[in-house]
Amino acid sequence: MIACFDIGGSAIKGAIAYSPEDIRPLPKVQTPLHDFDLFALAIERIAAEAGADPTRLIAISIAGVIDSETGIITCANIPCIDGRRLVADLSEKLRRPVLVANDADCFALSEAVVGAGRDHRIVFGVILGTGVGGGLVINGKIHEGTGGFAGEWGHGPVSATLAGNPPVSIPRYACGCGQIGCVDAVGAARGMERLHAHIHGKLLASTEIIAAWDAGDEAAARTIDVYIDVVSGPLAMTINIVGASIVPVGGGLANSHSLISRLDEAVRARILRRTDKPLVIPAELKIEPGLIGAGVLGLMELPK
Ligand SMILES: [Zn+2]
Repeated sequence: MIACFDIGGSAIKGAIAYSPEDIRPLPKVQTPLHDFDLFALAIERIAAEAGADPTRLIAISIAGVIDSETGIITCANIPCIDGRRLVADLSEKLRRPVLVANDADCFALSEAVVGAGRDHRIVFGVILGTGVGGGLVINGKIHEGTGGFAGEWGHGPVSATLAGNPPVSIPRYACGCGQIGCVDAVGAARGMERLHAHIHGKLLASTEIIAAWDAGDEAAARTIDVYIDVVSGPLAMTINIVGASIVPVGGGLANSHSLISRLDEAVRARILRRTDKPLVIPAELKIEPGLIGAGVLGLMELPK
């Protein structure tokens, strides 16, 4: 067994992983944001209190991107690790091997090994929630790509300027990454809300838009039509490129199975491969996919 962690800007969640199917969560603690010693200590304490072997490796899923060439992590919401060689620094502090992977990559790995992607060789895990992200797993291994950015289909100036039937003009919104017209700016939960406000002049939460659509509301149906049109094009192209045979979707918007089902139809109509089988589907692992992905990652590295 190993200790594994899912670390974000608000909490460090730990678990003990006995097998990919048996990962038992531990109580979570607040993430120390400004002191690296406290950050490392919090991890050490959780592992020690759970009785994990103090010499055995630990595996971490984190809301940041790690450059595999330099080892440097970019993690804006945890300042005490941002810009560090996180694996090297943590291994030294904790005196044991440390594995760290991006949370979207860990999500994709969890789905590939114990979720909806179990029988698939190429799994593209998609996040539609506070942001638009993704992770690519090939033959059971994370393909992080140069710089750690493989799978990041949410950024790049590609979002449609006309969408829906009949077409409505869509502004190219500024994105947090510095570009204009990213899928992230229209495809995340906030993006859906932005589209609704743009089309109908009314600000609703994404959950309200989806609930109204489910209840037969015409205005919400128009927004969903435009949203699906805007998001399905870039996703279909990404699937053509990576060749995935299954695309599990996680994040808040994936709680709506009707939304993911609409997205699946639109994507399958746009990819080059013809298939009648569901391709874009809700993720199977609803609870703690990052934690499970970290556990799977760590267990795979243990000597057999
Ligand atoms: Zn962007």
